[in-house]
Amino acid sequence: MNPKLVFWVPAVLRAAGTALLGLLSWWIAGPVPALTLVLVIVVAALVAQLVYLKQLGDWLNDPESIKLPDGWGAWTDIFARLYRLRRGDERNQAELTEWLARFRQAMHLLPEGVAIMDDVLFLEWCNPAAEKHLGLTLERDKGRRVTNLIRHPEFIDYIILGRYEQPLTLSIRGRKLVCQIIPFENRRQILVTHDATETERIEEMRRDFIANASHELRTPLTVVVGFLEIAVNDPGLDAATRKAHLSLMTEQAERMQRLIEDMLTLSRLESTDAPLKREVVDVKAVVESVAAEARALSGGRHDITVAIDGPDVMGSAEELRSAFGNLASNAVRYTPAGGTIALRWQRGEDELQFSVADSGIGIDRQHIARLTERFYRVDKSRSRETQGTGLGLAIVKHVLLRHGGKLSIASEAGQGSTFTASLPAN
Ligand code: ADP
Repeated sequence: MNPKLVFWVPAVLRAAGTALLGLLSWWIAGPVPALTLVLVIVVAALVAQLVYLKQLGDWLNDPESIKLPDGWGAWTDIFARLYRLRRGDERNQAELTEWLARFRQAMHLLPEGVAIMDDVLFLEWCNPAAEKHLGLTLERDKGRRVTNLIRHPEFIDYIILGRYEQPLTLSIRGRKLVCQIIPFENRRQILVTHDATETERIEEMRRDFIANASHELRTPLTVVVGFLEIAVNDPGLDAATRKAHLSLMTEQAERMQRLIEDMLTLSRLESTDAPLKREVVDVKAVVESVAAEARALSGGRHDITVAIDGPDVMGSAEELRSAFGNLASNAVRYTPAGGTIALRWQRGEDELQFSVADSGIGIDRQHIARLTERFYRVDKSRSRETQGTGLGLAIVKHVLLRHGGKLSIASEAGQGSTFTASLPAN
């Protein structure tokens, strides 16, 4: 029904009822009692209005604890509508609080730092990542000028110049931070920080790797090109020299081939697209084939023994064969003739271990931590003479990482070395 009618129809009916009652009493009892009756009814209605107004006032003062009355007449509808408004308000409030909590939680989990500054660069709010990146503490630094908190000349220039289209890279406390300011809402600004230390480190590793790989490939290539130039410029070269040149060229070409194969193996191992193949690996067969290859490489110059004392393991047979093979071939290549090499598969405390112990040249302590870096060699010429690529231990490390294992190295210069590949027992 039309709200105006809802209000006016009962009001007019009530007034008409009172007038009718007055007229009826006038007719029955005369004017004085009739007017008294009407007066009593009007006063009672007035008192009721005042009581409801008072209750409404009290409720408006403290809507939480005071309940709205049901009311009478037009008040019933007014109270019902107020009650509905209040419920709607409460619902909105609850939704807003929930959103705020969600937003706070998201900001807490965000790996990027977010700091909000007012128009004069005073810190208003920041999330924990921004506290960590910029060395801030919200409680302590709120209301302080950001340029006093981040006293970095480049950062101050960035803010003063206001060229915010480009992000700024800063080195703060040993970490690389990419900062960007985003103006918003009436001269307020958001400072977003991203920790790029890890990305930068990977990028640097990639650059180093490309530089090293190019250098490694350039050396044999220079030799091959040199001999080819001789062959072109001096067609009358005698057969023996030509043969010697060809054999040197073949040697260098094979070196390039080994390098490329090892680089491809490493890139396959690092690729997340190639998940680890899990199969039961017949470790005895793997270690025996590795030992056979090592004996072939040694050509009888070393005493190579094999001891298998552990169970089979889950993993990729091909990758484990390559890792174990690299350790065994290193032992042969870095152990002078007459030395001993012991290959052993055994159960450790909580893991399974493949170890290669040799009585070879050993390694100075200062080099041990860096041996698994790509192209790191203690003695470059010895590595090359023995057909090393400098990638063998990097491959071993990656294979073990993929299997949840690790490589440990115990060695001393002149005292031989023991390389132990540990794999989880399950
Ligand atoms: P490389 O192809 O040069 O052998 P690796 O990554 O396999 O490359 O090994 C890195 C370096 O670690 C070698 O150049 C060598 O100096 C050292 N190394 C590896 N294994 C042994 C070992 N059994 N005894 C002594 N030195 C070793």
